[in-house]
Order: sequence, then structure tokens, then C-alpha cells
Amino acid sequence: MKASNSILSSFGTTIFTTMSAMALEHKAINLGQGFPDTDGPEDIRQVAAKSALEGPNQYPPMMGIPELRQATAKHNNYFYDLDVDWETETIITSGATEALASSIFGLIEPGDEAILLEPLYDSYLPILERAGGIPKLVRVEPPDWKLNFEKLEQSFSDNTKLVILNNPMNPSGKVFSHDELEFLASLIKKYDAYAVCDEVYEHLIYDGITHTPLMSFPGMRERCIRISSAGKTFSMTGWKVGYSVASPKVLDAVAKAHQFLTFTTPPNLQLATAYGLNKGEEYFKELSREMELRRNLVVQGLRSLGFKTTKSQGTYFLTVDYSALNSNLDDLEFCKYLTKEVGVAAVPFSAFYKDGGGKNHIRFCYCKKEHLLVEAMDRLTNHFGKP
Ligand code: PMP
Ligand code: GLN
Repeated sequence: MKASNSILSSFGTTIFTTMSAMALEHKAINLGQGFPDTDGPEDIRQVAAKSALEGPNQYPPMMGIPELRQATAKHNNYFYDLDVDWETETIITSGATEALASSIFGLIEPGDEAILLEPLYDSYLPILERAGGIPKLVRVEPPDWKLNFEKLEQSFSDNTKLVILNNPMNPSGKVFSHDELEFLASLIKKYDAYAVCDEVYEHLIYDGITHTPLMSFPGMRERCIRISSAGKTFSMTGWKVGYSVASPKVLDAVAKAHQFLTFTTPPNLQLATAYGLNKGEEYFKELSREMELRRNLVVQGLRSLGFKTTKSQGTYFLTVDYSALNSNLDDLEFCKYLTKEVGVAAVPFSAFYKDGGGKNHIRFCYCKKEHLLVEAMDRLTNHFGKP
């Protein structure tokens, strides 16, 4: 038989699937793949259930149902003062994953360069390369994840079509500073590029920081696609409802890909997400407050064991340097060891780099019930002891 597509087949099974399967096999507490271990708000799920029973259940409009598009615009206007027009500037996709793919396929021409920041979320690179784009990788380094302005500037060229910015950033937990965003915006404008802004963790942000979309910087309104997801904002990662905003011309490019990728998204989940987005500000604040407590618990627990923690100011994730506890095993071997021998699963950090990186680092996910996080810390303490 003829070979399948060489770009996609060169990528293995995702590390999230691999580590979750291993956690299940060894009955380990799964602090690997990023998903909450509780279901999201019951009132939102009730809207979805009622709507599935009562219908309609046929194809919704290609751009999304009006209720969710209106709620998306309202949400953006309320939180970020973006003045979004729901009819010409919003689109609903099957998860942020599809919004990312539609943005990349809609904008990239073969040979275009795209700037990606490492460590990076797993879907960016395969989709970009499949679209014919050429990745230009810039690293942010632990423990502070500061953006190196010089390296960033060197990665831009006249061929730069777009930047993919994940803020707050998975897996690092980094939240970009105002100065970093401003500098990035100045380069994007200088090189006449676009920004695909993956902001799925916009409401999971700590230490009193408030989220600032790149789109809100002067001159960036026309250049950005701002992507978010019900999976993270309503703690239901299985739902796969993405809602994005972009100026009409850019949105049109995204829609051209979306109409052939999935065309639309289940109507009951769209209606329930609209209901969720219309919740008062307190719901969104509480989400961050709750998660911040869990982050604190895991940071303190791991630190007291001798892990060197890095800065996590957003997302579900904390990255640590484990070299003080083990200097023989590489990050994948160490994660396997933790899963099998200690009963706690994590994700090896090298998985988030194209060509090697993340040495001695692993990622823990803290969006789990408090008693499970405590149990995970106890298991680690019993195994390694206090330094
Ligand atoms: N981007 C990032 C950075 C993520 O962590 C995730 C969560 N898996 C996604 C995109 C995908 O979101 P969705 O489940 O809505 O496709
Ligand atoms: N976003 C999740 C994580 O980073 C995983 C998503 C997936 O499994 N595809 O852990």
C-alpha cells in the first residue's frame, strides 16, 4: 500500500494519551493530561440536556447559533472592551483545536513562516507543517519564562505570516507581561503579520493578574484571531466548543477552512455555552480563585520535597525541575517511574519541544480535587522523604 501523509505520520501518539493510559494501568493519580476530575456547572449541563431533548438537532448555521455568537461578542466587550460585532466578527468551532486549525489553514500559504514559542502546545506544529508553513521557534526558559526580545526579533522576517501566541501558556503556566505583549505587537505590525491568539486559559489566571488580549493593543484589532473554549472556561474539556473573534476579513479566512473541516458544532452544546458565557462576572472570578488555591497546594508540596518549581501564574499546570531528586533518569523515564513506582502521573517536558529541550523538567496538572492533590503529595513524600 502507498504510504500515508508523511508529515502527520511522523508524529507519534500524543503524550497526553500515553500518560493517561499508563496512569490508568498503574492506578496512579493522574496529574498528567490536563482535565478537571469534576463535571462542570450543573445548570449549564441542564441547558444542554434540555436542548438535546427538545431540539432542534439539525445542522446549526455554519458560523454558529446567534445566541452563542451574541454571547461571545458580549463577553469580549464586557471583559476586554473590544467592541465586537457578533454578526461579522464571531465564529463558533468544534473546540479551540478546530479554531486553531481553521486559522492556520485559512491564513498560511506553503512557504510562509510562522513564529511559535517553545515549550509549545502539541497541536500547533503538526497543523502548521501540514499547511506548508515553516516554523520559527523561539524559547522561553524556566524558571521565569521571560521572553528574549533579541531572539524574538531575529525570528521575524519579510516571510513571517503569523505568530501563534498562547497566553496564559500551556505547558509553562506563563502569563505574558504588558511589555512582552507590547513588543510582540510592535513586531507583528512592523512585519505586517497576523496573530493567532490561543487564550483558552483566559479565566484561569492568578496572583491578582488580569488577562490582557494581544488584540486589545493599538493596531492589533485587525491582525488577531482571539480563540477561547468552553472546555476550560466551564471545566468540561470533552465539550469541544470554541468561540473566537476576529475582524471581518480575517474571520472570513478562518470560516473558509471551518466550513470544510467541521462545518458546524452540536447545537445543544452551543446553546448551553451561550448560557454559561452570560453568567455574571463572579462565576469567572471564582474559577480563578479556586484554581489558585490548588496551584498553591501543589507548589508548596513539591517545593518542600526538593523539586525546583517554575513560575505558574495561569493555566492548569506547574512545571518543575526534578534533578535534585533524581539525576539518572531522563524526563520520560522519570515520569514512567513516578507513575509505576510512586502512583503519581506527570508529563515529560521534552514532549513540548520540536527538537529536544525541557531537560530535567516535568509538568504536573493541578486541576484535580483537593483531597487527590493531597494524596498525590503524600505518595511523593512517602517515596522520596523530605530533603
Ligand atoms: N490550546 C491549548 C493551549 C490547550 O491547552 C487546549 C486544551 N486541550 C486546547 C487549545 C484545546 O482546546 P479544545 O479542547 O477546546 O479544543
Ligand atoms: N490540553 C491538555 C493538556 O495539555 C490535553 C489535551 C489533549 O489531550 N489533547 O494536558
